[in-house]
Amino acid sequence: KCYYPMSDLSTRDIKFLPGVGPKKAELFNKELKIFSFEDLLYYFPYKYIDRSRTYKIKEIDGNMPYIQLRGEILNFETQGEGKGRRLIARFSDGTGIIELVWFKGIKFIIEKYKPGIEYTLFGKPTRFGSKFNIAHPEIDPIDDIIDKAPGLQAYYSTTEKMKSHFLNSKAIQKIMYNLWKSINGPLPETLPAQVIARSQVIYLTEAIQNIHFPQSPDLLRKAQFRLKFEELFYLQLNILRFTRQRQKKLGGFRFDHIGDYFNNFYHQCLPFELTNAQKRVLREIRADVGSGKQMNRLLQGDVGSGKTLVALMSMLMAVDNGFQACLMAPTEILASQHYESISELVAPIGIHVELLTGSTRKKERERIHEGLLTGDVNLIIGTHALIEDTVLFSNLGLVVIDEQHRFGVEQRARLWKKNNRPPHILVMTATPIPRTLAMTVYGDLDVSVIDELPPGRKPIQTIHQYDNKRGALYASIRKQIEMDRQIYIVYPLIQESERSDLKNLEDGFKHIQEVFPEFKVCMVHGKMKPAEKDAEMQKFVSGEAHIMVATTVIEVGVNVPNASVMIIENAERFGLSQLHQLRGRVGRGADQSYCILMTSHKLSQETRKRLEIMVRTNDGFEISEADLQLRGPGDMEGTQQSGIAFDLKIANIAKDGQILQLARDIANEILDKDPELSLTENYVLNRQLQKIFKKKINWSLIS
Ligand code: ADP
Ligand code: MG
Repeated sequence: KCYYPMSDLSTRDIKFLPGVGPKKAELFNKELKIFSFEDLLYYFPYKYIDRSRTYKIKEIDGNMPYIQLRGEILNFETQGEGKGRRLIARFSDGTGIIELVWFKGIKFIIEKYKPGIEYTLFGKPTRFGSKFNIAHPEIDPIDDIIDKAPGLQAYYSTTEKMKSHFLNSKAIQKIMYNLWKSINGPLPETLPAQVIARSQVIYLTEAIQNIHFPQSPDLLRKAQFRLKFEELFYLQLNILRFTRQRQKKLGGFRFDHIGDYFNNFYHQCLPFELTNAQKRVLREIRADVGSGKQMNRLLQGDVGSGKTLVALMSMLMAVDNGFQACLMAPTEILASQHYESISELVAPIGIHVELLTGSTRKKERERIHEGLLTGDVNLIIGTHALIEDTVLFSNLGLVVIDEQHRFGVEQRARLWKKNNRPPHILVMTATPIPRTLAMTVYGDLDVSVIDELPPGRKPIQTIHQYDNKRGALYASIRKQIEMDRQIYIVYPLIQESERSDLKNLEDGFKHIQEVFPEFKVCMVHGKMKPAEKDAEMQKFVSGEAHIMVATTVIEVGVNVPNASVMIIENAERFGLSQLHQLRGRVGRGADQSYCILMTSHKLSQETRKRLEIMVRTNDGFEISEADLQLRGPGDMEGTQQSGIAFDLKIANIAKDGQILQLARDIANEILDKDPELSLTENYVLNRQLQKIFKKKINWSLIS
């Protein structure tokens, strides 16, 4: 048997394949990034059409999908003139005759297809009076491929340029068949025997054959499962391998007991009962910080789910064990809101909390620096100011980062170096990341989820409103303000530097002032100086301003429980997650809150879907799942930094969650037994990891 080792397939140039040659090879290279035999073999079809059944012409009736016929052309005839010119062929299979019609490419068709030769034909019959015809059918000579691979036929995507050089799906299929015939033997298996047994996938050779030339729907499913599994398995194995190495290297501080601060707070200061989700997450954190390993945990919880309290109680665990803790937030407003609510909460237990931001005065800052260094300050809350090299701790044990996606990887990493061993890390986000995505992008973080809101919240009511209904909207705003509520009006600012957007916002601001002369309106946008921005924001926080006109700068963290209406202008310009984040600014008090999504009538199909989802649900996880389905993972927040995950050839992070989970479980089992993958039985794993991730940066190392 002729047999190429896989390494050989990857070095053999596509141009040497029968039916390719240098010209077509160049198209494969440029258009599809296919260079080698192996690249081609791993170029998978995007759909399949069932050709397992050949119909008889006499069976054709009213409404049939695409069907396959087998027979010959009796004759050609052109009809009509000029634009109405068309080619008609009479096609027979012995049971009847059907007309085939072409409006374009007439000359080509007459030259290519000859009467008296047997063809298979594929198309959708349309009724014309009492007769049927098929317009622009696909016609193929009866050949190897069809005979050998009846059933499901693979379709490959190609480009316009390739098609203009006769490299359509069909042509690729033929080339693929030539390749498969020339390989003529088993492919070296890329999964070790124990993984195949455990996952119950079929062998690679069978999978590759059936992904291109499915022998049956069942074998196609098995082939897809095998190839998806393998792709996700190596992705997980790679991420988990590094996670373990890191955990082994980085011992962590052990917080071995729960002490007075935590207990006193819990029993005396806590103004409400913790939700079950908060309790569960605290237990998870407690287990991490008590384990002797460094905690690296992502806490996800929808807006308003009470993450701050979990952060605070985790920080108390640190203080109980003689460590300091810090909480870093992306904006000054958010940091000072955290500072105020936390100092108030912990006042009775006598803990020393400070606030450090860019606008902390020099003298004050020096005093705080000193307090951190002596250990006098237990908890420090702040902004980026915390990562300055001048900020030194006596014994930092826990770092909490709020709205972590607002910080770069490097900024976060700088906090690791603030003690002789890296402190425990808890990063928090209100932008829910679907579980499957989290496992891939943040593969080395453990994930906790608060999936429950504190009791008594009234769900926000979301309404999609067209621009021409503004009058009615303003009337209801007036009513809300007269009931002492406050209103947000948000304008899109895709690029904070874009002048036209800024003009939009300023016009909107003027317009609102004119419509509501009796109320005070403030305005916030990203181009303002921080001090100016804070002053405007403060007007709204204090209740002095009734309406705040703003860009998405308010997206993160602001807490004004009295604000009950959020109006989002040009809502079509926002992504789902962003809309959800913005909406989270209201509904923080006991009142019924509203979110109004304003758009014009002209909307794309996708935008309509997005708005419908917003109107239908308040559940952040449902929304992020929908976002993932609509946009695909490449556009999701946080995924750009992890290119590796999204070069997937066949698996789909959005849809293959179960396979991903299986892949992850098996990867973990293997690493449990053989962390270094040094056993002989794991030789294949090492080889494949090296091959797949050779060129790729390992992001999991630096989060
Ligand atoms: P987020 O998760 O968006 O950061 P916060 O931590 O700001 O949410 O909490 C939102 C509000 O809910 C705060 O006012 C907080 O005091 C309150 N809260 C938190 N936990 C509970 C609880 N278990 N019961 C009632 N209210 C709670
Ligand atoms: Mg928060």
